[in-house]
Amino acid sequence: MRHRCCGLAADARRGAIALMLAWLCLAGPAAAQSVIEEELEQRVLQTTAMIADHPRLAGLTDDEKRKLVEFVTGNLLFVLGHESGHMLISELGIPVIGREEDGADAFSTLMALKIGDAYEDRVLINAATGWFYSERRNRQDHVKTMFYDEHGIDLQRAYNIVCLMVGGKPEKFSDLAAETGIPEARQGTCRADHSNAEWSWNKVLQPHLRKPEQPKSQIRIVYAPAAGELAIIADAVRSMRILETVAHLLEDQYVLPKPVSLEMQTCGETGARWDLTLKAVIICYEFAQEFSQLYRTYRKTQAFALVDEETLEATRNFHAAAE
Ligand SMILES: [Zn+2]
Repeated sequence: MRHRCCGLAADARRGAIALMLAWLCLAGPAAAQSVIEEELEQRVLQTTAMIADHPRLAGLTDDEKRKLVEFVTGNLLFVLGHESGHMLISELGIPVIGREEDGADAFSTLMALKIGDAYEDRVLINAATGWFYSERRNRQDHVKTMFYDEHGIDLQRAYNIVCLMVGGKPEKFSDLAAETGIPEARQGTCRADHSNAEWSWNKVLQPHLRKPEQPKSQIRIVYAPAAGELAIIADAVRSMRILETVAHLLEDQYVLPKPVSLEMQTCGETGARWDLTLKAVIICYEFAQEFSQLYRTYRKTQAFALVDEETLEATRNFHAAAE
């Protein structure tokens, strides 16, 4: 069983907020949002064209190939947000009240919600879907759930993302929350969860926001070379400029005491982590490959419901028993 900060298996790890607040103020919300979102959209099309003829994708339609790129990109951006949450906690000496892994997930979710409609759809819906897929895979593979893990279990992580989404934007995401089986009463308390998370992250990050006259923080980008099956993955993530997207947000927004780097590399296993000694967020190419495999395996079940019937039934039964 892997044991990295953020992998996707049962002991999995992955991993968000106020990131965007000052940035939005400084750059001008509408213009800045649309630049990020338009660039991502453009890169999805370019990257889809780049991978279209890869033999492993032979069974996918053109539309599925685009969705594959969106799914992997969204999940990797969420992971980067999560690991950036760990990095900020560590580098800025932010107090951790409760489980750090939950705080990092909240940071990543809130960051995406601040950027804009298309970005949050791309990142959060795919990230929640990723956790639902991961849970489904683990159930099929009879992987035991580790209740002592430092992370929440996959379905909790999926539901926490959806909860913060509907809590922050009930008008937009109540249908999605209902689709995943979250009852109306819980959707209401999700507003409090979102409010607490947003207020708290804003509070602790406020002293570290970069002023316009301050130099930008130094964030190095590294895409290490990759060989074999990972080569196409490395080409695709480089084409998507995944690391640059998050680095630009971070360096614009925060004053970091020391330079840090965001890196993608071949690890020999799946996962992602914030390495305190190296001052580096490291995402394994194998993690991107794992997301790709998840999409290709479960894409047919994605159409109308994020959650499979068995999970929905269990949720309904639970609420029926509780009432
Ligand atoms: Zn983590």
